Amino acid sequence: MAISVRNLSVDYSLPHGTAHALRDVSLEIQKGELLGLVGESGSGKSTVAFALMGLLANNAKVISGTAKIDGKSFDLTKPNATAALRGRGMAMIFQDPMLSLNPVFTVGTQLCEVLRRRSPGSDRKTRIGMAEDALDKVKLSNPQRRMGQYPHELSGGMRQRVVIAMALLSEPALLIADEPTTALDVTVEAQIMREIIGLRDRIGCAVLLITHSLGLVTEYCDKLSVLYAGERLESGTVNEVQQQP
Ligand code: ADP
Ligand code: ADP
Repeated sequence: MAISVRNLSVDYSLPHGTAHALRDVSLEIQKGELLGLVGESGSGKSTVAFALMGLLANNAKVISGTAKIDGKSFDLTKPNATAALRGRGMAMIFQDPMLSLNPVFTVGTQLCEVLRRRSPGSDRKTRIGMAEDALDKVKLSNPQRRMGQYPHELSGGMRQRVVIAMALLSEPALLIADEPTTALDVTVEAQIMREIIGLRDRIGCAVLLITHSLGLVTEYCDKLSVLYAGERLESGTVNEVQQQP
C-alpha cells in the first residue's frame, strides 16, 4: 500500500469556541491509484490535504491521526510529522498554480531547484536537460523557450503544467491535487487531468484528487471517498458509492 490515513481529527479554534472540522477520517490509497475525495464545500476536503502537507492554518489543531506511507508511520499530532512525510515524497498541486511557483524566478530555475534538492550532486547541464524533458512530457510547447520565461508570461493552464512538471521531477510517492483544474477553462481541464494521469502512470504514485466535480470523478477516479460534515460518509469504487442512496 502506498499511503493510509487513520483517524484524522482536526479542530479550528474560533473566537468563541472550537469548530470540529474533521472527525476520525480514514483514507487508503494504493500505489498507482487515483482516489477522489469529494464532498460539499466546507466538508473538510482541504483540511485533509493541508493536514498531510503541514499547511494547516495557525488556529488549527490536529487532535488525532496517523499517516502511513510505504510502511512507515507518522503521528500527525506531532509538529515534525509532516516534514518527515514530505521527506518521503509528497507533491501538491493547488487550484492556483502561483501557490507553487515563485514569481521572481524563471520556470527553468524553479524546475532545476527541485532537481538540485533531489540529487544535490547532479550537474547543471543534466538538470536543465531533465527539466526540459519534463516540460515536454506535460505537453508545454517550446520547452527551451519556456525555461527562460517567468510565470507571469504564461497562461493559467501553462502555469499549471509547469507545476505538474515540478511534481514529475520531484517523483513523489503521493501527489495531492486540490481542485487542480477549478480555475481553468474546461478545455484545459481535460488536458491537465490527462497530464496528472500521465504522471501517475509514469512514476506509479498514489494520487489524492480533491474535487467537487462529479464529472472528473466518474471519468478519472479509481476510487472515491465522500466527506460529509468532516466525517467520511462512504468509500469504494465510483459505482459502489454512486449506488448508495
Ligand atoms: P472544503 O475543502 O471541503 O471546502 P475545508 O477543509 O476548507 O472544506 O473547511 C472545513 C470546515 O472548516 C469549514 O466549515 C470551514 O469553514 C472550516 N475552516 C477552514 N479553515 C478554517 C480556519 N482557518 N478557521 C476556522 N474554520 C476554518
Ligand atoms: P521548504 O519549506 O523546505 O522551502 P517548500 O514548501 O519550498 O519547502 O517545498 C519543498 C520542495 O517541494 C521544494 O523542492 C519545492 O521546489 C518543491 N515543491 C513545492 N511545491 C511543489 C509542488 N506543487 N509540486 C512539486 N514540488 C513542489
